[in-house]
Amino acid sequence: MSEQPIGDRLARRDLRQLPRTDLAGAPVPGTIRLDANENPYEPLAGGRDINRYPEPQPDTLRRRMAGLYGVFPQRLWVTRGSDDAIDLLCRAFLRPGEDRILVVEPTFSAYAQFARIQGAKVDSVRMDGDFAFDAGAVLRAAKDGPAPKLLFLCTPNNPTGTPIAVETVRDIAAALPDTLVVADEAYGEFADAPSLAPDAGNVDNLVVLRTLSKAYGLAGARIGCAIADANVIDWLARVSPPYPLPGPSIAAALGALAPERMPIHRARIADLLAERARLAALLRGVDEVEALYEGGNFLFLTVADPEGLAQRLEAAAVKVRFRPNAAPGGVRVTIGTEAENRALLAVFGITDAAPRRRRASVTRDTAETRIAVAVDLDDPEPKRQISTGIGFFDHMLDQVASHGGFSLTLACTGDTHIDPHHSIEDVALALGAALDKALGDRAGIGRFGFALPMDETRAEVLVDLSGRPYAKFDGSFTTEHLGEFPTEMTPHVFRSLADSMRAAIHVSVEGENDHHKVEGAFKAFGRALRQGLATGASGKGIPSTKGSL
Ligand SMILES: *Cc1c(COP(=O)(O)O)cnc(C)c1O
Repeated sequence: MSEQPIGDRLARRDLRQLPRTDLAGAPVPGTIRLDANENPYEPLAGGRDINRYPEPQPDTLRRRMAGLYGVFPQRLWVTRGSDDAIDLLCRAFLRPGEDRILVVEPTFSAYAQFARIQGAKVDSVRMDGDFAFDAGAVLRAAKDGPAPKLLFLCTPNNPTGTPIAVETVRDIAAALPDTLVVADEAYGEFADAPSLAPDAGNVDNLVVLRTLSKAYGLAGARIGCAIADANVIDWLARVSPPYPLPGPSIAAALGALAPERMPIHRARIADLLAERARLAALLRGVDEVEALYEGGNFLFLTVADPEGLAQRLEAAAVKVRFRPNAAPGGVRVTIGTEAENRALLAVFGITDAAPRRRRASVTRDTAETRIAVAVDLDDPEPKRQISTGIGFFDHMLDQVASHGGFSLTLACTGDTHIDPHHSIEDVALALGAALDKALGDRAGIGRFGFALPMDETRAEVLVDLSGRPYAKFDGSFTTEHLGEFPTEMTPHVFRSLADSMRAAIHVSVEGENDHHKVEGAFKAFGRALRQGLATGASGKGIPSTKGSL
């Protein structure tokens, strides 16, 4: 009996006859598709191929997500949000009126909801007053009666933020061989703990849920996944509808997970965590806040007078989630943008004195290059992560950001196998556009200049962040290439920057060594930019609240 794979052993017996899903991939290009009763004509809206059914299981996305979570593709099933994965688990494993699940309250309500829709019983263990996770209590409840088919463990937990140690989840799975232990890692990207995803490929009764809704900003696309034993995946596939994932959602997910997007995701997660810590510290000082917990991309707090708070929030048009079942006066607050968080703090009577940070991100995709760039002109600890595919150009942009005193996250996937030209030009345009966007209303910004010597070279750059593009370059080179960087692209880069930043940039370089001349120009540009970006007298560019740009 126990020789059977776990999915076959635990799946609903009445589904045994259900056929396996046919995972036919995308048809070979050029195939004449008269098989699916689709409309043959060009779509009138919604993009190419929307007249066609999507793949039953999108192979490229499945591989990409498997790579992201460090598992084999066969162990991962892409679902319509992780909500759908919860539903599929309930449908495949829960017999109405017979089976039960176990949840640890307070937690995400969808586990109980889908189980009840399936007609199964929902048993729960309650966390203690401080929302600590008690593995002993969970095991006792699991062993009190028939083995629950599914045990849902949300880590970090929604809404309390409570993490469960990975060893604890492993121990629980080992102690409950007849239960599928489902670790919902919807907020895993925001947690310090490692993911259990790799374990789910080895431990047959462990299932891990992930989603692109939270950390990757794709809630509207509805893409998540279950990671599990191959036989469990087989059962999820059997109870899946035939074409569950809309084509545009698959495309959005592939776009968002493209390599050049990843550094920005990481930077944004770090920003949200820093903002979470800042809000937590401020709100802990508020009298009406009784307790406060941090986790995921949210805070969970309890307040003395939830009705009063609800009225003030409504008056300020700020929406949060009240969670009275989780705790009396319980409120879950998502971390928003700086401006949104400021509005929230105001409801709690806190005037947020932190200066506005001038940040922007820009994506630029063409047939030749795909670029994502983010700048933060007021980062107290500027960071740089630059990857254009052209080493020398990375080095130059690093000089610009470091001498400019701003944070720069920039990645480009380009056709450098043909020529670096497209990547260099498009990166300059995208960076300029990001700086332009971050500068916002730049009224009052003036003209700045910087000259620097580098050994025998003298480089001078004048910048006027005027809103009017103009580029002037004085200087010439004799070397054709610096690394893979064509030297002749130097004036071109400043012209592209001037155009997209809407600035006048005058560069003049003289000297003998071309490396010094190019590097000197980029450095001096960074220095001139630093002066231009600074809005206070401090030099580092903390914007004053009055004379802001
Ligand atoms: C948001 C959330 C989900 C659902 O994510 P989708 O992929 O958008 O369906 C799942 N689990 C928890 C704990 C969540 O908070």
